[in-house]
Amino acid sequence: MITNHITACISEYIDRTLPPAERRAVEEHMITCRTCAEEYIALESIVVKLHCLPKTIQPPPDLLEGVKAALLSTRIPHN
Ligand SMILES: [Zn+2]
Repeated sequence: MITNHITACISEYIDRTLPPAERRAVEEHMITCRTCAEEYIALESIVVKLHCLPKTIQPPPDLLEGVKAALLSTRIPHN
């Protein structure tokens, strides 16, 4: 019986990057572990919302220049 929580594997499980044996272990663990099952449901709902976001967000044209300026002004001198 698996006693370790599989919370560290949940995001990989959702991304489908886990090997089949580990996927099965995660599924079997979530059947018996409410903590991990709730973690999975919470994470998956976030992932679903992320996928619903528009995929073509245009950054403002001056974003890059602003980032460069901010980087230059906060550069830490190396001694
Ligand atoms: Zn667990």
